[in-house]
Amino acid sequence: MHSVLVIGGGVAGIQAALDLADRGFQVYLVEKSPTIGGRMAQLDKTFPTNDCSICILAPKMIECFRHPNVTLFSYSEIVGVEGVAGDFKVRVLRKPRYVDEAKCTGCGACVEACRLKGRIPNEFDEGLGRRGAIYFPFMQAVPRVPVVDKEHCLLFTKGKCGKQPACKDACEVGAIDFEQQEEEIELNVGAIIVATGFDPLDPSELREYGYGRFKNVITALQYERLICASGPTGGRLQRPSDGKEPKRIAFIHCVGSRNPRAGRYYCSAVCCMHSTKEAILVKEHCPDAEVFVFYRDMRAAGKGFTEYIERAKNEYGIKYIRSDVVIEEKENHNLVIRYDERGRQRRLEVDMVVLSTLLMPRRDAKKLATILGVKTDEFGFIEPADELLRPLDTNVPGIFAVGFCRRPMDIPESVAEGSAAAARVSELLASLEWQGEGSEG
Ligand SMILES: Cc1cc2nc3c(=O)[nH]c(=O)nc-3n(C[C@H](O)[C@H](O)[C@H](O)COP(=O)(O)OP(=O)(O)OC[C@H]3O[C@@H](n4cnc5c(N)ncnc54)[C@H](O)[C@@H]3O)c2cc1C
Repeated sequence: MHSVLVIGGGVAGIQAALDLADRGFQVYLVEKSPTIGGRMAQLDKTFPTNDCSICILAPKMIECFRHPNVTLFSYSEIVGVEGVAGDFKVRVLRKPRYVDEAKCTGCGACVEACRLKGRIPNEFDEGLGRRGAIYFPFMQAVPRVPVVDKEHCLLFTKGKCGKQPACKDACEVGAIDFEQQEEEIELNVGAIIVATGFDPLDPSELREYGYGRFKNVITALQYERLICASGPTGGRLQRPSDGKEPKRIAFIHCVGSRNPRAGRYYCSAVCCMHSTKEAILVKEHCPDAEVFVFYRDMRAAGKGFTEYIERAKNEYGIKYIRSDVVIEEKENHNLVIRYDERGRQRRLEVDMVVLSTLLMPRRDAKKLATILGVKTDEFGFIEPADELLRPLDTNVPGIFAVGFCRRPMDIPESVAEGSAAAARVSELLASLEWQGEGSEG
């Protein structure tokens, strides 16, 4: 009754965990990747205020990690759930990091020593940066403990790494442990909050945009990393083909979304705003650049959102064009955008294109939903028990869903839902406890 499981350590899960922990609940936060932070950690700035994303998130990540009532299981997954509200038994699989969290000081000597340092594409930088086989996912990762990528590490792929693994040699506290094995633990909790967020669609499956074939077509998440001071170029805006600063750049909305023919007719909800932010950031980095935004219709329902777009147009001179597009590549890797303006075919040559792709539930969301027994909609978003009156409750009493895994939403909404679910859980567990006491008495 006094323990709660939160699945997913993005901003929604962190908020839920902190609120519950502050109320005295024991919180188990299970995060699949080696660090908490979720997508917000990858963003440069946040709309509509252009605040630095990681500057807001990092203190919350640390507070969550250090909170005496939060136990974080990073690099871990849920493999089984049984029971009912008030008494769930949860099996958690802890994957081996090959680094002893208790001994590691986070000094990074192993990361520096890795023979593959700078050779493997970094997932956090969406493939634009490089890392070694032992690495910190990013500078502010929590916990600050590196992880060994078994798929690439020479010890696992070639059977040896020099005479002795370089990382092990470099570690003065003996934290590198290649004997670590998968471990399954069991938790007993009263309630569960699911906060597993989203994955973007891989746009290489949509031929008209040339992603994966044309060098200077990137996704919005790649752009966020490119423009970020802690990103692969140190925040310099460079196009991938030749490292030159783009002079003309286009942002394309609704890539893969709102397409009934492909069965993906929903709107990702944040793209109109995040690409407006990204367009503004071009002008802040390169004031002379020309910036174009291709859109279907603007969805700017939040507070201050319309004003933000008006500022983009009037203060920053960003040109908004209402049209679908087809993209072609020239020999110099410039892109020609073919579009339609009031019935007339037009062409526009740019140096770089940024795609705002469809955002979907995590690729393994269905698997987790099956383990939990919660219903999902046709796209894989978790279905509420009652959309109007109990939007965070699922069909399973005691299991709640918050943030992007429920429906597309921005950061403030995800935070609000994290707090709201914490309140729902406190109410539920208090009432179950009260009923239990009543029946005993
Ligand atoms: C390019 C881009 C720019 C954006 N810019 C803005 C912006 O400026 N302002 C704004 O308000 N919003 C912005 N957003 C939206 C914002 O990213 C989301 O609103 C926010 O990240 C949702 O938080 P979340 O916690 O629900 O999900 P996530 O951030 O996706 O976090 C989910 C967490 O759950 C973990 N997880 C997933 N599956 C499992 C599992 N099975 N078991 C355990 N853990 C799991 C993940 O590893 C992750 O840590 C942007 C989105 C994109 C794509």
